[in-house]
Amino acid sequence: MSIHRPLKLAIIGAGPSGFYTASRILSLLPANSEKGNKVEVHMYDRLPTPYGLVRYGVAPDHPEVKNCQEKFDGLAADPRFRFFGNVSIGTTTSPTTSTTRAYTYPDAVHIPLSDLVPYYTTVLFTYGSSLSNPLSRTEHSSSSTAPLGNVIPALAFVSWYNGHPAYAHLTDQLDLSGIDEATVIGHGNVAIDVARMLLKDPEALAKTDMPTPVVDRLRESRVRRVTAVGRRGPAQVSFTTKEFREMVNLPGVAFTPVDSTLMDDARGMVVGDRARKRLMDLMSKAGAKAQSDMNGRQDRTFELGFLKSPIAFLPSETDPSSSSSSSTDTPKVSQIKWSLNTLLSPPPAPPVPPHPPAAPATLTDTTPSTTVVARPTGQETTTRSGLVIESVGYRSESLSLSSQGDRSGWAVPFDERRGRIMNDGGRVVDESGIMVPGFYTAGWVASGPIGVIASTMQYAFSIASLIINDHFIQPANPASGSTSTPTSASSMADGSFSSPLPTSPETGIPEALVLAGASPAPSTSTHTARSGKQVVEMEDWQLIDRAEVRRGKEKGGGKPREKFLSVPDMLQVLH
Ligand SMILES: Cc1cc2nc3c(=O)[nH]c(=O)nc-3n(C[C@H](O)[C@H](O)[C@H](O)COP(=O)(O)OP(=O)(O)OC[C@H]3O[C@@H](n4cnc5c(N)ncnc54)[C@H](O)[C@@H]3O)c2cc1C
Repeated sequence: MSIHRPLKLAIIGAGPSGFYTASRILSLLPANSEKGNKVEVHMYDRLPTPYGLVRYGVAPDHPEVKNCQEKFDGLAADPRFRFFGNVSIGTTTSPTTSTTRAYTYPDAVHIPLSDLVPYYTTVLFTYGSSLSNPLSRTEHSSSSTAPLGNVIPALAFVSWYNGHPAYAHLTDQLDLSGIDEATVIGHGNVAIDVARMLLKDPEALAKTDMPTPVVDRLRESRVRRVTAVGRRGPAQVSFTTKEFREMVNLPGVAFTPVDSTLMDDARGMVVGDRARKRLMDLMSKAGAKAQSDMNGRQDRTFELGFLKSPIAFLPSETDPSSSSSSSTDTPKVSQIKWSLNTLLSPPPAPPVPPHPPAAPATLTDTTPSTTVVARPTGQETTTRSGLVIESVGYRSESLSLSSQGDRSGWAVPFDERRGRIMNDGGRVVDESGIMVPGFYTAGWVASGPIGVIASTMQYAFSIASLIINDHFIQPANPASGSTSTPTSASSMADGSFSSPLPTSPETGIPEALVLAGASPAPSTSTHTARSGKQVVEMEDWQLIDRAEVRRGKEKGGGKPREKFLSVPDMLQVLH
C-alpha cells in the first residue's frame, strides 16, 4: 500500500508562473508513477482566457514571445489537469486606482478563499500584479482624487491595446485625435512598449492581434512626438538594449539625441558594466544617426527625458471644460509641471528585516544597476503634453480568506510596501517569517513585477520542485499535522503555524463551480453547450480560441485573431 498522501493542488492565476509550475509538476511526476497517479492540479483564473500577461501584457507586435502559449496548451492533454476560467478567487482588499476601481469582474464566479481551501492539500498563488503603482506625489495623477482626462496608468493603456475586457471602455475615453505630444513617465521596457504603440504605423499593428477598435483609435491619432521621462539619468534606465534598439529603428521615427554632457556623465557611471555600456553606446549612435537622417521622411519623434519628476499634471487654461465639475467633462491634461533633479549617492541602507520575502536572484533583467538617487534641485519647468501614460511599475493585490474582505480574518500575508505576498523562496511566510504550511507563491505576485517570461519560468520550475519535495519527500511540512481551521490560523507558541488547509481535502471541486456549470469530474467527452454556463474549462477556452482565430481570418490581412473584448461575448461562443 502506498504511503504517499495525494497532492491536490489549487493554482490561483493562469499566467506563465501558474502554467510553468503545473507543467513541471506533472512532468516530474508522470501519471503512471506511484506519486504521479495521486496528483490533481486545478488552475483558476478570473478571466475566461488563460495566459495572463502573455495575452494582455506582451505587445501585439511581439508574437514570437507568445509562443509559450503552445506549451501551455499541451497541459490540456493531461487528465490530471483542469482549468477553471472566469472564476475569481479571494477578496481584493488593497486600495485600487481610479482606473481599476470600476471593474470587479462582474461576469465571473466569485469564490472566497475559505470555500476553496477545504478541497486542497496545497495552494499556489500565481495571480500576478494587476494594480499600478500610484504617482502619489503628483497633482491630478490618475490615482489622485481629481485625475485629469488623458492621464492613465501604463497598465490600463497596455491592457486596452491588448483587448483586456476591464479596459475596453478606454476606446471611448481616450482622445488621441486632437493632440500631437504624449509623455510616458518611466524608463522601463513597458514605457518603451507604450511609446512604440503610439508611434508605430497603425497599418503594421492592424496585422497583429491588436483589436480592430484599438487600431482604429490609433489611426485617428495625431500624436507625433513621444517623450519617455525618468527621474534619474541615462545610466539608470531600466529598459533593455533590445527594446530600445527596436524603438530607435522604427520606420518613420526620429530619435532626438540625448544631451552630450548627460551622456558623458552617464558613461562615467557604467565603467565595468558591459551590458549598460552597450546601451549607452546605442543611445549615442541612435542620436547621431537621427541627426544625419534629418531629411523630412521621419515625421514622428521619440525622445528620452532625464532628471525630472512630475509635480502636477495641468489642464489647459483655455479648456472650456476645465471649470466644469461634471464627470463627463473631465478636463484633459495639456501641460506637465516638473521638478528638476540631480543625482546623489544613496543614503545608508536601512537594516535588513529578519525574514525578507525572497526574490529569486535570476529576476534582475530590468533592474537598474547603478545606485544613485534623484534629489530635487528646487528648480522647476513646464512642458506641453496632451496625453500622459504613467509607467512607474505594477503591484499585486492582497487576498483575504473571508468572503467579506474582513481583515480580522486570516489574510494571505502581504507586504503592503512592496505590493507582493510575503514569502521565503516561494513558501508563504507570516510577518515573523514563519512558514504557512501548504501555501506557496510564484511569479510576479511573489517577486514583484520584475523579470521576463524566461526568468518567471525558471522561478516556477524551482517552486514545482519545492512543492514536490515538501509534499512527498520531506513532509516535515506542518500542514500534514494540521486541522481545518479556516479563519483562525495564527502562529502557535512552538513557532509552527496552524494552516487553514485541511489534513484530508474534500474530493471533487467546490460546489460553486458545479452550480456555475463546471463538470463535477474531469471531462473526457467533447464540449456540450450549456446555456448560462459561467465557468470556462479547457475545452471551452479552445472553442473561444478557435472563434477568435476565425474572426481574425475574416478580417483578412494575416490577422492572427480578433479578440473578444467582453466576457459575455466570450461566453456566448459556448452556448
Ligand atoms: C506590458 C508588459 C509587457 C511585457 N512584455 C514581455 C515580453 O515582451 N517578453 C517577456 O518575456 N516578458 C514580458 N513581460 C513580462 C511577463 O509578462 C511576466 O514575466 C509574466 O507574465 C509574469 O507571469 P505571472 O504568471 O507571474 O503573472 P501574470 O502573467 O500576470 O498572470 C496572472 C494571472 O492571474 C489572474 N488573476 C489575478 N487575480 C486573480 C484572482 N483573484 N483569481 C483568479 N485569477 C486571478 C490574472 O487574470 C492573470 O491571468 C511583460 C510584462 C508587461 C506588464
